[in-house]
Amino acid sequence: MKAVLIPKALELQLIDIEKPQLKEASDVLVKVKRVGICGSDMHIYHGTNPLATYPRIVGHEVTGEVVEVGSEVSNVKVGDHIVVEPIRSCGTCYACRNGRPNVCDKLSVFGVHEDGGMREFIVLPENQLHVVDANLDCDEAVLAEPYTIGAQAVWRGGVSKGDTVLIQGCGPIGICILKMAKINGATVMMTDLSPERLEFAKENGADFVIDAGNENVIERVQQITNGEGANVVIDAVCLPFTFELGVEVASVAGTVVVLGFDEKPSAIKQLPITKKELTIVGSRLQTKQFEKVVALLNEGKLRHDGLITHRFSINDVHEAFSFVENNPDKVRKAVIIFE
Ligand code: MN
Repeated sequence: MKAVLIPKALELQLIDIEKPQLKEASDVLVKVKRVGICGSDMHIYHGTNPLATYPRIVGHEVTGEVVEVGSEVSNVKVGDHIVVEPIRSCGTCYACRNGRPNVCDKLSVFGVHEDGGMREFIVLPENQLHVVDANLDCDEAVLAEPYTIGAQAVWRGGVSKGDTVLIQGCGPIGICILKMAKINGATVMMTDLSPERLEFAKENGADFVIDAGNENVIERVQQITNGEGANVVIDAVCLPFTFELGVEVASVAGTVVVLGFDEKPSAIKQLPITKKELTIVGSRLQTKQFEKVVALLNEGKLRHDGLITHRFSINDVHEAFSFVENNPDKVRKAVIIFE
């Protein structure tokens, strides 16, 4: 069967490997249908993901169909359409004991620390699979994982009905956060430098968009919120200065959600944090967000609405990666089709 291997940074191979087999009684064999290309896959390809190891079969945004189940599998059956929950945790460390397996001490992410889903068949334990409606379009289901990232950020920010939320950045993750924040009943402001991306955010429900290259973000937020500031700031730009801006523009008793991997320090003042009694939280991967996201997908409340812009056959995976790399302005989300 075909698989997409990154043997080392800046090399991509379409290889032929043996089809995997069930090993444990809880294992499930899945025929892969669609895999999304994520920014983090591009980082693995470039050698700029500090967490990844090589050689690696990438891909963690996966939807497919169950073709075989182990003897003790009870929650999925042959023919079910599924999406993959790409995290495996130890169950005993402090994070796991406190319901936060996404930051497990021994965390293993499918397609990052272990081989992932960019191959024709995968075997995973049933607890890493979630069944979606069989009539749900694969192009909708394949976005389940990115939506869970948005759902996690919104959950970490405590976004609730009536809150004003500032999302910095209208890339794919910013849009996923937007969709989840709107479902929670928030008023959403979004920033970006690209007029096209700001327009797309508007089409997807953003109440206000701010052109960060031409407008003063803090002034605009103060104006929109009648001087209150944003109750929740979620930073999907992830630069040192956007974190600084988030702390400045947050309202009293507000929350700032950080998603970045940057190791460069931000110059954060203590005064606004204490004076406004801010809550500053990190958001990584997701915890228990798949059930919620799958229900919303099944109900038709989450639709990609143009978020997927490009589709490539597995045979054209080289073209897919180079296209995504060279056309960041054109590609929102690209997916690989296996069929
Ligand atoms: Mn992803």
